[in-house]
Order: sequence, then structure tokens, then C-alpha cells
Amino acid sequence: MNSDEHKKNPTPTHSLETVLQAVQQVYDWLDEKIAEMNSSCQACGRCCDFDAYGHRLYVTTPEMLYFLNRTCQEMQFMTDGVCPYQKDGRCQARQARFSACRIFFCTGDNRRQYELSEEAVRRFRNICRQYDLTYRYIDLKYALSHPEVWFA
Ligand code: SF4
Ligand code: SF4
Repeated sequence: MNSDEHKKNPTPTHSLETVLQAVQQVYDWLDEKIAEMNSSCQACGRCCDFDAYGHRLYVTTPEMLYFLNRTCQEMQFMTDGVCPYQKDGRCQARQARFSACRIFFCTGDNRRQYELSEEAVRRFRNICRQYDLTYRYIDLKYALSHPEVWFA
């Protein structure tokens, strides 16, 4: 499947660009809230190694759509428990990365991260309602390991 096939309009009644802009607004809001937390990250990349780190992150349909259309990277899939976009500790898809990746800081305030996650999910669910998108909430490791969940 070529990259243009990934970028087809998700809904019959709304343009893809409108949906992507709605997702961008959630990320802009989120990035502002995350900056207020003032958490630090050493860019070690350990939390992008899902197997070794042992945590679970989740992704929603609008975020997947955004990622497919906004990342400058070719779509890659996980073969070894490590996110394929992690290189030398850094995220190669940083501009398009998922809300869970934005929110998680190993030294961050867990309660605040949970609150932000819940609110982000609520906003993504609203985007699905507003733009007639099927809402899915998927384990990110599973999504990054299964091409079919992106292109179904
Ligand atoms: S948040 Fe992730 S990349 Fe940053 S220091 Fe912690 S484990 Fe390393
Ligand atoms: S998308 Fe980026 S931040 Fe998220 S798990 Fe992959 S490398 Fe880490």
C-alpha cells in the first residue's frame, strides 16, 4: 500500500483537513498543559521500549489518522517491543507523536498525567462523534505492531 492510500478522507461528510486541525487543537492544548507541569526528560528513550519499560500507553482513532497524515516518517511497525520511531533515545516522529507519548514523563506527577490523559481521550472521542469517525482506543504497542489496525 502506498502512502497516498493511507491519506484518504476518513468520512463522507467532513474533510480530512478539518479532522486533522481538530486533532492539532487538542495537541496544542495538551502541549500547553504539559509545559505547565515543568517535567524533565533526559531523552534516554527507555519509555519507548514497551517491553523493557513495562508500561502500557493507548492511542485513539483521530490520533492515528493525524499520525498517518502528519508524520514526515514512513509508516513503520514494531518487531521487537521497541517503538520503531525511537532512535538514539529520541523520537523521530516528535511533531506527530501520540497524546500518551506527550503526556508521559517518568518523573512526572502521575495524578496530573492521568487527568490530562482522561481529558485528551474525552476530546478525541468528541472529535469522532463530531466527524463521524469510528472511535477506537487501542494499546499503542499493539497498534504499532499490527498494520491492519491502521488501514482497516
Ligand atoms: S520520560 Fe522516557 S525518555 Fe524521558 S527520561 Fe523518562 S524514561 Fe527517559
Ligand atoms: S512515537 Fe515517539 S515518543 Fe511515542 S513511543 Fe514512539 S518514539 Fe516514543
